[in-house]
Amino acid sequence: MLRWQVLKVGLRTIVALNGVLDENADLRPLTELSGEVSFDLSGVRRISSTGVREWIELMRHLDRRCRVSLVACSPASVTQLNLISNFRGRAQVESFMAPYECPTCGAEREVLVDSVTVLRTGGLSVPPQSCGDCATPMELSELPERYLVFLMDQRGGRPVARA
Ligand SMILES: [Zn+2]
Repeated sequence: MLRWQVLKVGLRTIVALNGVLDENADLRPLTELSGEVSFDLSGVRRISSTGVREWIELMRHLDRRCRVSLVACSPASVTQLNLISNFRGRAQVESFMAPYECPTCGAEREVLVDSVTVLRTGGLSVPPQSCGDCATPMELSELPERYLVFLMDQRGGRPVARA
């Protein structure tokens, strides 16, 4: 089951998607969006292959009439960004959720990371995080060179802000 919430923030329309993107999700109402649109994908837990097709169709539609960005991409959506080159269409990925784990106590946490922050460091590391339970420096629970691949496609996109 996929639900969404639409918020207007200034000129931007933010669409927060929650749940599972599969054959039961009907994205057609979203093809009516226009202007500057951000999809918040933090709540997308799973994407099936039918869901991927639906999504790509939506992106194709919106590319013609909107400026689209993806924000807070969940690990499930990052997986698709990494696997399928046209999953994002022409959208910029502004930020994503990075899964961290603590090597000492095993605690897990998802942290919101800005794409620009990662690209500034060369694109292969995520910002340091300390474990809330034992203060050990946490590690990305996926291989960075695998999890962060989608950012490499974006290098030439929007100019990267300098520190
Ligand atoms: Zn810990």
